[in-house]
Amino acid sequence: MELLFLGTGGSVPTPERNTVAIALRHGPEVLLFDCGEGTQRQFMRSSFSFMKVTRVFVTHLHGDHFLGLPGLIQSMNFNGREKALLIYGPEGTMQMVESVLHLGLFDLGFDVVARELADAEMVEGDDFTVKAIKVEHTVPALGYVFEERGSPGRFRPDRARELGVPEGPLYARLQAGESVTVGDVIVTPDMVLGASTNGIKVSYSGDTRPCEAFMEAARGSDVMVHEATVESSLVDKARIFGHSTAEEAARLAASAGARKLYLVHFSGRYEDPAVLLEEASNYFPESYLAVDLMVIDVRKHKAAISHQFQDVRPGDDPNDHPLPRDQHRI
Ligand SMILES: [Zn+2]
Ligand SMILES: [Zn+2]
Repeated sequence: MELLFLGTGGSVPTPERNTVAIALRHGPEVLLFDCGEGTQRQFMRSSFSFMKVTRVFVTHLHGDHFLGLPGLIQSMNFNGREKALLIYGPEGTMQMVESVLHLGLFDLGFDVVARELADAEMVEGDDFTVKAIKVEHTVPALGYVFEERGSPGRFRPDRARELGVPEGPLYARLQAGESVTVGDVIVTPDMVLGASTNGIKVSYSGDTRPCEAFMEAARGSDVMVHEATVESSLVDKARIFGHSTAEEAARLAASAGARKLYLVHFSGRYEDPAVLLEEASNYFPESYLAVDLMVIDVRKHKAAISHQFQDVRPGDDPNDHPLPRDQHRI
């Protein structure tokens, strides 16, 4: 499972940063969180294919979070896409998608389905859920929490034999989570299964002031992606425009018990946002700056992987570009 930062800038693109878009590759699906202008071109510079995007989760309807959709959809169409594209977002998303689909002259060859999500509403995938959380911005806005369903423990035939369960269909029923009766004894799945494992949890704040509801929903995230638009000396600006400072993002990640925090949505005032990382690290040591085209192997819980577009050659595996931890630190 990999997380790709396609854009990490807030409000407007800069020479260093595209506006926000984050892709999560999970099994056959690529989930896209926000889609800033130029997202499709960022995809082309990465090892991810935009044709594989199955669902887009828009946090809110400020342009830096969705203006990449018209071009992305038209390029998907140009490339012969047939599979439906699902677009989720807060109130106003259906109208936005409707407008996008009527922008310019083209015949759409696939379904684009928009769905507006309420606070705490859940989107169900094959083996994951994405929960929408109402956050605190200047317009209706959602944060998202992706959670992979955990896997049950491995079946232990030795234990089953000890309990007198005959090999055959009863094994299958126990593995499927059912209890079975052998003679007078009820054998429950937990008696014959090893320890279960929790699934991966990834949370993304979108644009928001530090938000209690998001913190609660994101509790225990393996990776938290939180906006950190400015440094704490500009907290008054952050309050007015509904954003978080790096310190606020880091404090929230610490309260939520996140393993890793990736900061995004940097103000265009920072050519190099290192000052934001320095600030965040004081409150949450496992803080990192997201960089455009950085890829994280979420399952390994480590931030060891990155590539910049100028380094990429055809067929390059991003995993071959280890990024020393200190490279994104002061
Ligand atoms: Zn924004
Ligand atoms: Zn915004």
